[in-house]
Amino acid sequence: MLTRINIPTKIVFGDQALKGQAEALKELGKTALIVTGKHAAQESGALQDLVAVLEENNIEYVHFDGVIPNPDYACVDAGAVLGRDMQADFVVAIGGGSPLDAAKAMAVLLAYIDLEARDLFEAEAQAHVPVVCIPTTAGTGSEVTPYAILTKTEEQTKGSIPQRIWPIFSVIDPKYFKSMNRPLLVTTGLDAMMHLLESSLSSKSNFYSDDLVRLGLQHFAKSKELFQTKREDDTALEHLVIASMYGGMAIAHTGTSLPHALGYRLTIRNDEPHGVATARTVLPWMRYHPWQDKVRELLEEMGFADFEAFEQFMRSSVETYFGKLDLAESRIQSDAREVYQDKGKLRNHPEEVDEELLKKLLHEMI
Ligand code: NAP
Ligand code: ZN
Repeated sequence: MLTRINIPTKIVFGDQALKGQAEALKELGKTALIVTGKHAAQESGALQDLVAVLEENNIEYVHFDGVIPNPDYACVDAGAVLGRDMQADFVVAIGGGSPLDAAKAMAVLLAYIDLEARDLFEAEAQAHVPVVCIPTTAGTGSEVTPYAILTKTEEQTKGSIPQRIWPIFSVIDPKYFKSMNRPLLVTTGLDAMMHLLESSLSSKSNFYSDDLVRLGLQHFAKSKELFQTKREDDTALEHLVIASMYGGMAIAHTGTSLPHALGYRLTIRNDEPHGVATARTVLPWMRYHPWQDKVRELLEEMGFADFEAFEQFMRSSVETYFGKLDLAESRIQSDAREVYQDKGKLRNHPEEVDEELLKKLLHEMI
């Protein structure tokens, strides 16, 4: 099989990373659209660092702070209007996956002034103004993927817009992740773990994505204690940040799989944060996965002696912070049917998927 490797995003990783980026930012133009949610950009300290660099270098900016978790069309359109008014040359996103993804979609809308966010799913448009990403959750890996996931409110699901928007560069400074509270750290950390596992157990996996997964899981193994204790540990947090980055690089090449497809419905209909919504089906998905040798290798990389140890870790991480989720039988039937009909991610499962398997995953989820 032919393997294609493409990582066009430059990454600057480490303490004070943003300070050295003045020249790189100046090259992008005179006016920046800063895209954030309401609080995290400031709480993490990243917004203050960015504004200082922009002001010291006479780069104009306008700040859109209206991105909601699981961004919808309305917030993307509102940010794009502000950016168009200011004739922004580029976009800088700070936050979790939601501001990063919304900013990528806005970057396309800045290149096509007649389009609105809801048009993107059908549009041929591929151009976009440059995007710089500064993540504050570890996480989605959106800072190293070309994906932008938007909520399709009417269809009650989420999806990746067809445009591929690689950030021109991303600044990953481990101190920006310290302000996450424990539930946020757990749900976003589980998202990173799921990206690594889903990439590896995908029919699209290849030697390159598998190497990234191995590295990512080794870092994840060193961050596991963060899920079980409230103790602050900067080294463990840095390992999680790196695991998340490798997870993003891996899914950039393989996409995600069944747990993400099922998780999108749990997010929209049960208001479940993205990471935990995805991780709830990991146990039955791995238990019934046709590649059991690979499953065992992945557990070993994560530092679990066997499946039972992994199950214990998953149940305590999810139930401690998010409780159990029991779906009504009618919901299980309808979610399974919808995911089955929306073939997209099912192709990444190495065997033919039927509705019965999807129902089984939902019945046996945490
Ligand atoms: P998020 O939705 O971006 O943020 C969740 C909450 O965490 C927000 O209230 C946010 O506050 C807060 N927060 C973020 N960083 C913080 C920090 N350092 N300190 C304190 N609070 C902080 O969460 P996420 O899980 O990172 O992103 C989820 C989205 O990413 C979903 O839409 C998912 O589908 C998408 N995703 C994208 C990719 C991709 O490749 N593009 C991959 C996986 C998932 P504010 O509202 O104030 O910002
Ligand atoms: Zn995810």
